[in-house]
Amino acid sequence: MNKKCGLLLDDRYFKHCIRQNSPENPKRLHSLYAHIQGNFRDRFYCLEPRRASLEHITAVHSTFYLEQIWEHSTRENPYSYDRDTYLMEESFATAELAAGGCLEMADNIMAGEFDRGFALIRPPGHHAEPGRGMGFCILNNIGITAKYLLEHYRLSRILILDFDAHHGNGTQEMFYESPEVLVVSIHESGLFPFSGKKEETGSLQGQGFTINMPVFAQFGDREYTFLVGRLLQGLVEQFMPQIILVSAGYDGHRDDTISNTLLSTEWFAMVTTMLRQYAEETCEGRLMYILEGGYNPASLKASVIATLESLGCRNTRKVGVLDVKRASALLHDHPLQRYWTIQ
Ligand SMILES: [Zn+2]
Repeated sequence: MNKKCGLLLDDRYFKHCIRQNSPENPKRLHSLYAHIQGNFRDRFYCLEPRRASLEHITAVHSTFYLEQIWEHSTRENPYSYDRDTYLMEESFATAELAAGGCLEMADNIMAGEFDRGFALIRPPGHHAEPGRGMGFCILNNIGITAKYLLEHYRLSRILILDFDAHHGNGTQEMFYESPEVLVVSIHESGLFPFSGKKEETGSLQGQGFTINMPVFAQFGDREYTFLVGRLLQGLVEQFMPQIILVSAGYDGHRDDTISNTLLSTEWFAMVTTMLRQYAEETCEGRLMYILEGGYNPASLKASVIATLESLGCRNTRKVGVLDVKRASALLHDHPLQRYWTIQ
C-alpha cells in the first residue's frame, strides 16, 4: 500500500448544478469518481475537504466580487452574472469547499503527511480573476492556495504550471507583479479567454515571472513534451521552487471538442512523471495537482486515471520515463522548430 500520495474528492462537489445544459456539470466527474472509489481509495491517503475561510478567499478576491456572487446566486436566472458561469444557491458553498479542499491538501503536504497529491474538485478556478468570475470559474482555487502558502507557510518560490487548453488569466492576474510565484501557462492560442500572449511576462517586481507558451491548434504530445521537457525543466532549475502546483486541465485531450489540441491520454501520465522528477530534484517531491477543465467525461476519466497511476506509483521509473533528448531530437526537423527557437 502506498500512502505517499494524497487524494481528495467529495460528492458535495456535485451540488453546483443547474437544469440547463452546461459543459461544466457534475456528470464530468460521476464515472471518474465511481472508478476511483472502487479502485484507488486504498492506494492513496484520502482527505476530506474543508471550506476555505473568507480570510483566505479575500486574500486574492475582492469583497465586492463576493457580494456580487451572493446576490446573483439567489436570482431566478442562473446566468444573470455571466453567460458561462452559472450561479445558484449552492454555488458559493461548493466553491468554498473546492478552494478549501486545495488548502487541506496543501496543509498535509506541508506537514509531510505525503509529498504529492491530486485535489479532484469542481467548479474549476483558473479563469476567476480578483474581481470577476468567468469561464465556469467562481473562486480561483490555485490562486487561493498559492497565496495561502506564501502567507501561512512563508514560502517565497512557488511554481504554478497550467496545462489546461485555455489560458489561466485569473491566476496570471493575481501574481503578475510577484516574483514569488512563477506562473507558466501552456495553452491553445486564439482560444477563450484570448489572453496569454508570449509578450505577457509580468510587471514591476514580477517582470519575467509570468511565462506564456501559446501553442497552435493541432499541437499534440511531442510538441507539448518538448515545451515541458526542455523549456520548463530549464525554468525549474533556475527558479528552484519550494512546491509545484499544477492547474491540471484535461480539455487539451484530442477527444475533447472544446479545444483543437491533440494530446493523448498517455501524455498526461508522461507529464506527471516529468513533474515528479522536477519536484524530487528541487522541492523534496512537493507536487500538487488541482483539477481545472476537461469536458469530455470519458477522456477526462481516462486521463485523470493515467495521472493518478503516474502520481501514485512508488517509483517514477516504472511509469516509462520520458527521454527528453529523444523527444527534442524528434522535433529537430519539425516545421515549427523555428517557432520554439523564437520562444
Ligand atoms: Zn480549459
